[in-house]
Amino acid sequence: MDRPRTPIRSLAELAAAEAACTRCPLYRDATQVVPGEGPAKPSLLIVGEQPGDKEDLAGRPFVGPAGRVLDAALEAAGIPRAETFVTNAVKHFKHEMRGKRRLHKKPNAYEIDRCRWWLDLERGLLRPAVVVALGATAARGVVGRPVAIGKMRGTAMPLADGSRLVVTIHPSYLLHIQDREDKRVAYQRFVADLRLAATVLAEGRRPASVA
Ligand code: SF4
Repeated sequence: MDRPRTPIRSLAELAAAEAACTRCPLYRDATQVVPGEGPAKPSLLIVGEQPGDKEDLAGRPFVGPAGRVLDAALEAAGIPRAETFVTNAVKHFKHEMRGKRRLHKKPNAYEIDRCRWWLDLERGLLRPAVVVALGATAARGVVGRPVAIGKMRGTAMPLADGSRLVVTIHPSYLLHIQDREDKRVAYQRFVADLRLAATVLAEGRRPASVA
């Protein structure tokens, strides 16, 4: 299916439509689609790259090692995990076989842009105040063009729908840093980015009468 024939009004309808999607080739080799997950009216939307091996098997986002890093960092940043909605820019697991192992393969621009159709619908249903994009693929999925992560980190960019975008790294990047001190520094910076999202969220929630 390229596009749903009827309007999508709920997350359940969105997940069902994503499961039937053939907008790019990635549905062919994945176990199943991995729709977003979380409360229906979240203040914070976290967008990752794509499901990993564990997520593909479970059918749920951020249940693997990178998800555990994200959970810890959210807690360190004072963001309640239960109040956040997590999803991916690309909803099917892209991989290549190396023996019996399925190795993650980065989605290309075509796949990201084709799957953006679903991310846009998702954002329209959720209407979060703040979007956090984890990595360049996620950022491209949100804004629809290439994004230089290094240039955008530490800022909250206004989006057309009135929400704000905070860009940071994907937590899987931290899993691949070997040097302990480098890993610690990178993790602290990741937490700082999430703290920025929490601050922007708190500012947005503040009543109009409070300066
Ligand atoms: S990755 Fe996205 S666009 Fe491609 S088939 Fe899956 S849901 Fe459709």
